[in-house]
Amino acid sequence: MSKRDYYDVLGVSRNADADEIKKAYRKMAIKYHPDKNQGDKEAEEKFKEAAEAYEVLSNPEKRQRYNQFGHAANAQSATGGGYGGGGMNMEDIFSQFGDIFGGGSPFEGFFGGGGRQGGGGRRVARGSNLRIKVKLTLEEIANGAEKKIKVNKQVVCKTCDGSGAKDKSSFQTCKTCGGSGAVRRVTNTILGQMQTTSTCPTCNGEGSIITSKCNVCHGDGVVRGEETITINVPAGVSEGMQLSMSGKGNAAPRGGVPGDLIILIEEVPHETLKRDGNNVIYDLHISFIDAALGTSVEVPTIDGKAKIKIDAGTQGGKILRLKGKGVPEVNSYHRGDQLVHVNIWTPKALSREERETLEKLQSSPNFKPNPGKNEKSFFERMKEYFE
Ligand SMILES: [Zn+2]
Ligand SMILES: [Zn+2]
Repeated sequence: MSKRDYYDVLGVSRNADADEIKKAYRKMAIKYHPDKNQGDKEAEEKFKEAAEAYEVLSNPEKRQRYNQFGHAANAQSATGGGYGGGGMNMEDIFSQFGDIFGGGSPFEGFFGGGGRQGGGGRRVARGSNLRIKVKLTLEEIANGAEKKIKVNKQVVCKTCDGSGAKDKSSFQTCKTCGGSGAVRRVTNTILGQMQTTSTCPTCNGEGSIITSKCNVCHGDGVVRGEETITINVPAGVSEGMQLSMSGKGNAAPRGGVPGDLIILIEEVPHETLKRDGNNVIYDLHISFIDAALGTSVEVPTIDGKAKIKIDAGTQGGKILRLKGKGVPEVNSYHRGDQLVHVNIWTPKALSREERETLEKLQSSPNFKPNPGKNEKSFFERMKEYFE
């Protein structure tokens, strides 16, 4: 059998540039690819022929030799890749593809592969990620929380145990690939190693065929269901933070890998305490009499009530710091403080008696504002506050 002219094989002119040759070959490779022409001996020959032509014409040195001497030049070349004798083997052909199509296994994209793991193993489906919101109180944020959340999601079908088949007899190993998911066995007899890069077209890479589908999930292996998931929220999280639980998302069809559960943190505002990073702020209001005479008050904290002492002569705007009563940092032993902001409450309404009492005091020299040098300025207090 005499060889066809390489230019004729690819359907390009003798002056075709490298780009034209590449394009022509790309077209041929797709047209005659064994995945698309199962068992077609002629397509296989054309596929190999095109690969051989491209191998020579894409290499300037080989192309020049071919132009000069024709097929004879290549038949003599023992080091040129062995294409002169029995033609290229499939491994050589497929190794060319990286160059032609970019990337390692180009035909996945062309022939509906993809999503497969490794090089030619069974294709593994992956479930989608699931997003939920979790509301947390300030106390839960400060101490960490274990939340049990009912999640509506795709779960594995219990009837068929996720296989999608009606029963064991309706769940058969794919005859084409023998269960490997790659077209190994079929094409092994004809084509050698090409199988390692292509997905079995019969079972779509799953390695098995369902002859009779499960009545409940209709072959998907998954159904809509509910699962109660225990989420361990670490202390110190904050609004907008996302936690991820691997494998707790939607189940994948027919025994694939489940997706992840993404948990979005939401803070429930506290009635009296405000969070500021790792600190907690409390606005305390005391009467000017308590401020003048001194007293002891109870303030709310994350851990319950705390008693604090107000010294006689306390000025409005003073900030008292309760060490370690704030929110912990995530994954750290450091904990913020609670800052108690002292406000002096001025009565808004007075009885006649109260008014008369206060009027007696009004002209007293001790009631005249007299901030000394020791008094902290607003600026200084703010600085302390943000320390
Ligand atoms: Zn198969
Ligand atoms: Zn089922």
